[in-house]
Amino acid sequence: MIDLHCHILHGIDDGAKIMEDSLKMAKQAVSEGIDTIVATPHHQNGKYINEKNDIVPRVSALNDYLLQENVPLTILPGQEVRIYGELIGDYRDGKILTLNQTNKYIFIELPSSQVPRFTEQLLYDIQIEGLIPIIVHPERNSCLIENPNILYNLVNTGAMTQITASSLTGRFGNKIKKFSWDLINANLTHMVASDAHNLSGRNFHMQEACEWIASEFGIDTLYMFYENAESIVNGYACFKDTPEKVRKKKFLGIF
Ligand code: FE
Repeated sequence: MIDLHCHILHGIDDGAKIMEDSLKMAKQAVSEGIDTIVATPHHQNGKYINEKNDIVPRVSALNDYLLQENVPLTILPGQEVRIYGELIGDYRDGKILTLNQTNKYIFIELPSSQVPRFTEQLLYDIQIEGLIPIIVHPERNSCLIENPNILYNLVNTGAMTQITASSLTGRFGNKIKKFSWDLINANLTHMVASDAHNLSGRNFHMQEACEWIASEFGIDTLYMFYENAESIVNGYACFKDTPEKVRKKKFLGIF
């Protein structure tokens, strides 16, 4: 299994702190059936700046270490880019990493409680540049929870999305768990990943989430997520069902 989103590189963001943490995370990943991780350090989120040239050598160093420690896990380069105005210019300047450097898919993080006004235009411009934007953890954005049609419009105009395993397992609460369920149901998400930061509060939970997806949505949905993850690291086209609007359920006619 491939994990597309993980803060396993040590010492560069709020994920692993030292190499030993990276090693422990790698072993946990392997125990959950993960054989490939795309390392996606934060970039431009107001706290951390990790450009392509900071990330690529660290990925090689971790791969060497895992080989030496006999851990059967491959790390690929990636980046979690907070949405910002100069993103495309910085991509052209070689500061932005596409997932596994295939020049095809790029992880875009929105602020946690809003969707900036320029989002739609920027996601469009990214596509004009020849890239496909993948919005990470939309289920944790409070603005999207309140206004799921905003996400519908972004997906309908070509963006993809990634949900987080621990959102599905309920670590972020029932509201986020329910919204994750809604997003899968409405074809508004296309892959699941861990976004693991450590082995305590922000662990992988991939195995548990995958079991839950298979039991709630069927094995076909799970395989679609697996295949999309594989297509993404290879730079191939993904499978996308036609997006639908999230239907807000009415309870006892109160709303
Ligand atoms: Fe992340």
